[in-house]
Amino acid sequence: MFKDQVVLVTGGSRGIGLETAKAFHREGARVAIIHSGRELPQEVRDLLSDSFREFACDVSDFAAAGETVAEVVKVFGTIDVLINCAGITRDGLMLSMKEADFDQVIDVNLKGTFNFMKHLYPILMKKRSGKIINLSSIVGLKGNKGQANYAASKAGVLGLTKSVAMELASRNINVNAIAPGFIETDMTQNISEKAKEEMVGAIPMKRKGTPADVAKACLFLASDAASYITGQVLVIDGGLSL
Ligand code: NAD
Repeated sequence: MFKDQVVLVTGGSRGIGLETAKAFHREGARVAIIHSGRELPQEVRDLLSDSFREFACDVSDFAAAGETVAEVVKVFGTIDVLINCAGITRDGLMLSMKEADFDQVIDVNLKGTFNFMKHLYPILMKKRSGKIINLSSIVGLKGNKGQANYAASKAGVLGLTKSVAMELASRNINVNAIAPGFIETDMTQNISEKAKEEMVGAIPMKRKGTPADVAKACLFLASDAASYITGQVLVIDGGLSL
């Protein structure tokens, strides 16, 4: 479905990003995964090939993001789809939240998303086509105790998504956000078993989401089937936010 297309996935070394990168690759895309630079898991190194490449870059670094986008274009010739998936949490109640906890989460989750969109802008505008998918969260829609920094970053991603969608719509570029609920990845592994059970109990579909649940939605939003959808937020949470 994505033959000859180039897909850049930030946060592509594990979790939702990795699953999404693999899904696009299976559909024929050439894929560039961006990761934070620490050692890549063997599982990811085994996937590397001429059409599945890795690039280390701290997404919160504006200049580094620009250099990485240029490198990907040098290797693959262009970029058609951008998926902003890199994200972190630094949870804590406001009373104990440090300034650095706030700054880091905003820098990676919100500024990182801005950085890659900004550097892709001229490429996509010139092509007059392209898809951007930004990972938000239901926490960005509803807020969450102990995640004021994360919720603010993910709400920011929604504002960024909708504004850029309006700017790019006339250029035939679709910009959408995905708001997952509780997805089983490294990011959620530190939650206690008891809290996980409670969360699953509150999900109408009575199961945690999987990275594949989100990857499939990314395939849809990047496909021709979604060509008239822009500036939207697709909630993937088994009904949790209902
Ligand atoms: P994860 O922790 O498994 O993976 C995060 C990825 O981001 C990794 O590949 C990591 O290398 C990358 N990353 C982190 N900081 C980076 C930086 N500074 N520069 C470059 N890359 C960096 O997380 P996940 O659960 O797969 O989440 C993926 C996205 O989905 C995140 O934006 C997250 O906020 C969002 N999300 C996740 C859930 C969930 O329940 N897991 C729910 C809602 C939203």
